[in-house]
Parts: sequence; structure tokens; C-alpha cells
Amino acid sequence: MPGEVRVRFAPSPTGLPHIGNIRTALFNWLFARHNGGKFIVRVEDTDQARLVPGSIEAMLEGLRWLNIDWDEGPEVGGPYGPYYQSERLQIYHDLADKLVSEGNAYHCFCSQERPAQDDGRQRDRRTSASADCHCRELSKDEIAKLSAGTDSKVIRFAMPREGVTRVKDLIRGEVEWRNETQNDFIILKSDGFPTYHLAVVADDNLMKISHIMRAEEWLPSTPRHLQLFYALGFEPPEFAHLPMIMGPDRAKLSKRHGATAIGEYQVDGYLPEALTNFMLLLGWALDDKTDVVPIQTVIENFTLDRVTKSSAIFDQEKLLWMNGVYIRELTPEELASRMMPFLERDLPKDMLPVDEEYLRRIAPLVQERIKRLDESADMTSYFFKADENFDTGTIIQKGMDRDMTLAALKAALADLSATDDYQHEKLEEMLNATGERLSLSRRQFFGVLRVAATGRAVSPPLFEMLEVLGKDRTVSRLKNALERLSASG
Ligand code: GLU
Repeated sequence: MPGEVRVRFAPSPTGLPHIGNIRTALFNWLFARHNGGKFIVRVEDTDQARLVPGSIEAMLEGLRWLNIDWDEGPEVGGPYGPYYQSERLQIYHDLADKLVSEGNAYHCFCSQERPAQDDGRQRDRRTSASADCHCRELSKDEIAKLSAGTDSKVIRFAMPREGVTRVKDLIRGEVEWRNETQNDFIILKSDGFPTYHLAVVADDNLMKISHIMRAEEWLPSTPRHLQLFYALGFEPPEFAHLPMIMGPDRAKLSKRHGATAIGEYQVDGYLPEALTNFMLLLGWALDDKTDVVPIQTVIENFTLDRVTKSSAIFDQEKLLWMNGVYIRELTPEELASRMMPFLERDLPKDMLPVDEEYLRRIAPLVQERIKRLDESADMTSYFFKADENFDTGTIIQKGMDRDMTLAALKAALADLSATDDYQHEKLEEMLNATGERLSLSRRQFFGVLRVAATGRAVSPPLFEMLEVLGKDRTVSRLKNALERLSASG
């Protein structure tokens, strides 16, 4: 690829970051890493009315959590800063003045600010916003007169009225627009801030962006940007518009499909590497069969010819599945350390602090079943504290009565107290024999032990679990069960 690859993620701080934003960041980052280029974060905070405090911090936090590091931008700086557009107003003013003086833009005195909800994506056609505006034809004298009488004026770009604007999009192929369908859009607003269009073109040029990769919803803005590049005498970068993300019902992705702010995925116990892999598949594929792709393989293979044109479908079930896959790939040590913050958050206070060493032994026992880390506390709490109040009726297994169950508990207790070898194979051998002596099926006898040791009917494999619980806990829990069942008669 000729020249250095420099791509940018240009969030507007107008709300919490969601899957759509971050997918764009991820694709840009991967493209930069694949090409040994630079990934730049630029904050597009020129729409003062729509600023939401905290959204940039949340965005940066989301990127950090996902290990998407940026080479230039907030916090790290860089040679083309500042990276907040609100700190670059002079640049935009100078460019707007240049456009006006060269006849490519004009002051407009009509009160035609765009509607408040229009964040730049809506395409206001020539027939709407600037149709009745005659300011483009005003003489110098008229402009001087009007300027004296008002301080509320905007600058509009004078779109060519004939011809077509073409882009050879690296994903979508060739797209063209008839210029007459484009309106004279505002580039500088009456509050002195530029619109997105001017700021984005100015900065993509000044920050030496080589490729603009962004969501398809920005495609309609591209003819405006190209014409601005031309009028300013700037060489336009390459363009690549990423496919839309839809819900399984083919409607535009929303909360209804389970898509929430990025921070929520962290709170809900998704692994960042699973979410990254999942977002990757929202528009990119290594081949037609591989879903789970290690990030290093992705970086090595991240070319734009693998980006799909058709809309990507967001499937919450697939994300959950993917998370389980990544959880099972962790080492027990890693899983334990990922579970720890969730246990600290969710376990009852009297079970804290959690012993790390103990947790490392517990983790492999739940690894097969846990799908999200926020299940950690619920899946493991009985390791930390016995549930001593479980319904004693649940100890008595099918085909057994209370006396048989008491006898089973007594026999197990005698054996489990008599040995110090809690290695699981040994326990299995011993308790198999005990069960046979009592003429109980494995399901019955082990069912009794499971409930007595955990208070639950479902648990990890019994003997592995008893090994981890260890002798003291096991014996005292069985004693408690025996006492409670005896007392209940
Ligand atoms: N600030 C725009 C956004 O919020 C960036 C669009 C672009 O990448 O050109 O998505």
C-alpha cells in the first residue's frame, strides 16, 4: 500500500458507546495493525447542543477494555493534535474563509439552521434546506449591508450544480451522486462551530488520514466531503463504508435486540476477547466456516476484501455462545482472576474475601458450564459457605425414604471422616463401595451426597467438587445435613 496507513475513529460524544461505534473502531484498528499503520482517535465534539457529559470517557474506557489501543488522540497526544475538534476552531474558520474568498462557500443570512435532531446523517436535499436561499447570488455590497445588521449567520458550501460526484469505495465499489441532488449544506454554524462536514474534511486532511473507514450510514455524506476536499485543494483519502448492523429481524440494531452500551457487556460478564471476536464477525470473515479467530490471526488477515457488503446480523445468542467458547479456553488461573471481581461484587459480604488459591481450584469445576462471568457468584457460592438452610426434603432421592437417607448419610460420614485422602479418584472408589454396601444406585447415593454437601441438586462433578471442598467442609456439611434430617422426623 503506498504511503503510511493512517486511519481514524472519530466518535461524537453524544451518548454511551454501543456496538456500532466500537465495531467501527475495531475495524479501523485492525486495518492499522495489519498494515503497520497508525490508529488515531479524534473526538468530534462540534455539536455543542448534543454533547453528553461522560460519553468520551466511556468511549475511551470501552476501547481500553477491548485492548484497542490508539497511537494518537486523547491522553496520548500526537503530532497532529489537538485531537478534540472543539480545540481546533481557528482551523475551521480559516478554511471556511478560504472557501468563501475563493467563491466556494458563501455567507447565508436566512434563518435556516438545520433541525435540532439532524445530526448530519440526514440528507437534506437541495429542495429543502437551501432551496429558497438566494444568498449564493448576493453581491459584495448586499453582503456587507446584511452582515452589519445581524450577527447570526452561517456559511454554506456552494455545491457544484452540475455533474456527478463519484467515489470508488473500497467495500461498496463505485457509487455516484448527481450534484444537483445535493444542497448547499452549512459548513460553519452561527455559534461559530463548524458542522461535521467541514471539520471531518479539514481534520482528515490535516491528520493525514489515508483511509476513511466508517459505517454505511455516512455514505450519503461522502459527495459533500469529496466536494469539500476538491474545493480546498486537498487530496481525498480512500473511502470504505462498513455494512449496516441489523437485528435478527432485519430492523436497525437497537436495545430491543439485546444490544446495549459497551460498558454493559463488561458488567454482564462478557470477556473482551469474546466481544471483539463477535464484533469482528459483524462484517468480516476469515472464510466461510471459521467463527472463532484468535486476534493475531485476524490482524494477519485483515484485508478489506474480506469485509462483506451485505448487512451484518447481530445475534445475541451467538455472542453468548462465543463467550462460553472463550471462557473454556482460559487457563484455570486466568478464569479465577477474571471471576474474582465478579465474586467481590456479587457474593454476600460474609463470604469475602475470597481465597485466591481456593478459587483457582474451584474455577475448573464451573468452567464447562459458565457462560458469563456474572454467573460466578451464583455458581460457586456454596464453595465459600454452606447453604445450611436448604429444604431437607431435597436430600431424599427418588426411591428412598428418610431412614434410608439417614443411613446413607451416616455411612458416608463414617467413610469421609476416616480418610484424609481427598483425591477425587480415591473418593469415588471409596464411595462407590459404600453405595453398593447400602444397595443404593449411584444416582441415589451420590444425589444424597450432592445435596448434603452443597444444598443444591445441581453441581459440578461430585468427587472433584468434594476434593476441592476438602475434608473439613465436607464432613461438617454432612454432619449438618444428618442433624437436620434427623431433627425433621
Ligand atoms: N463523528 C462521526 C460519528 O459520530 C464520524 C463519522 C465519520 O467517521 O466520518 O460517527
